[in-house]
Amino acid sequence: QTIDDPQLVKLAEQLRGGSRRALGRAITLVESTRLDDRARAEELLQLLLPETGNSVRIGISGVPGVGKSTFIEAFGLHLIDQGHRVAVLAVDPSSRRTGGSILGDKTRMELLSRAPEAFIRPSPTGHSLGGVARRTREVMLLCEAAGYDHLLVETVGVGQSETAVAEMVDLFLLLLVPGGGDELQGLKKGIVELANLVVVNKADGELKEAAQRAVAEYKSALRMLRPLSDSWQVPVLSCSALEKTGFETVLQGITDHLEALGSEGLTAKRNAQARAWMWNEIDEELRAAFRNDSRVAALLEQAEAEVTQGRLPPGRAAQDLLQVFLDSSTRKDPQ
Ligand code: GDP
Repeated sequence: QTIDDPQLVKLAEQLRGGSRRALGRAITLVESTRLDDRARAEELLQLLLPETGNSVRIGISGVPGVGKSTFIEAFGLHLIDQGHRVAVLAVDPSSRRTGGSILGDKTRMELLSRAPEAFIRPSPTGHSLGGVARRTREVMLLCEAAGYDHLLVETVGVGQSETAVAEMVDLFLLLLVPGGGDELQGLKKGIVELANLVVVNKADGELKEAAQRAVAEYKSALRMLRPLSDSWQVPVLSCSALEKTGFETVLQGITDHLEALGSEGLTAKRNAQARAWMWNEIDEELRAAFRNDSRVAALLEQAEAEVTQGRLPPGRAAQDLLQVFLDSSTRKDPQ
């Protein structure tokens, strides 16, 4: 398949050359909901695909106040000092609804946002989690093509958005703070299955001792929660984002994990993620097409009512509606 839209070819070229403006324009295209933009975005991604995949993809999570933005800024600058280029992205489908602080907001990372080797992009808004996740995955590919070799994908909360981020990164880093059994509860609630690396932040000043205790506590908690047969024992490390200490240990933890995974393991993980992404996309598009089908829409309300009232078995209702959908889509698309 050849792509002959000269504007797209030019945009891809500028993006490969590291132009921030081109990257910004490409992201706008990818985040657009307009159908013609969508088609162009897919063409652009196809053009850039050979240049993608050359980064370390790191997910970072932790409750508000744990120090995510402080950590990402300081750690990002540390990576830049070592000669890397860093892109910071965020997955936060709720940022608009709750009016909370926006993840990946430049004002939260002023120093980093001024660095020429850094690129910061807040979470796209106005989409479902699935929509945000898709756009973020695509932006990750754009950033890789633009030469960013470390991607930090920030998220917050417990549950769904963490899972979505874990499904798009190579490793998932959970930030915690010293003290409080709450975090242990959080660990039990499933995040432990996602975390490849646990980092206790704020290991400084008066909190230093509490941080060391927390490291020991989390270590034993993790040992209880995770089967010993795991090939990777999740390390519990500590750092101070404020005083910029412990970053070498965190970097080592990241390297160790990637080494444990091995290049074949990493490829297998990314391939599985790409396949799951494709299937997510198919599921979402099919559901959307189903709901937007006018014949289905005409029958949907009544079917739901009948199912609710117990007059129609749910399975039967689903079969009938799907049949209507299939009939009308084959009529629309005679091939
Ligand atoms: P976020 O909500 O997770 O992004 O957290 P922030 O980065 O905004 O930090 C929340 C608060 O914790 C701020 O007042 C930070 O100054 C403070 N903080 C962040 N990292 C550290 C740290 O390493 N040590 C100490 N003592 N405070 C920190």
